[in-house]
Amino acid sequence: MNKIVAFLIFVFLFNFQSCAQKTDTKQQEEFPISKSDAEWKQELTQEQYYVLRQSGTERPFSSPLNKNDKKGVYVCAACNTPLFKSEHKFDSGTGWPSFDREIEGNVAFGTDTDLGYVRDEEHCATCGGHLGHVFNDGPRNTTGMRHCINGVALKFVPSK
Ligand SMILES: [Zn+2]
Repeated sequence: MNKIVAFLIFVFLFNFQSCAQKTDTKQQEEFPISKSDAEWKQELTQEQYYVLRQSGTERPFSSPLNKNDKKGVYVCAACNTPLFKSEHKFDSGTGWPSFDREIEGNVAFGTDTDLGYVRDEEHCATCGGHLGHVFNDGPRNTTGMRHCINGVALKFVPSK
């Protein structure tokens, strides 16, 4: 019996440690724009803070940008870095704004295992704000990639 308890404690500690390590790695990544948690909390709306700073996910079909098909550029809601272009947006039917490619260099990638499997996470390369995930089931006639992005992490700037 004691062995089982010891084993469970070991598993718990091990998991706890790997979570802690993951957080550390993210904090060590340095970005041109870096603000304290309190500053972000003040500047962003509650929903933006949840997605961008806490890697949350907005409810599907909740973003007005999901159905936006106007011409323009999608910039980071936190730091205004241009991240995606309207010509690369497509309707994936998932309920989140989807793009077949990012503006190269302005989006950085990581991995997370929050759902128990490895996903390619993407974030703003300037401020580190979490944007969404990238999957390889996008349109086959273009890049084959689907950048599944939280609309709340983006601001739309229409072209003139
Ligand atoms: Zn940003």
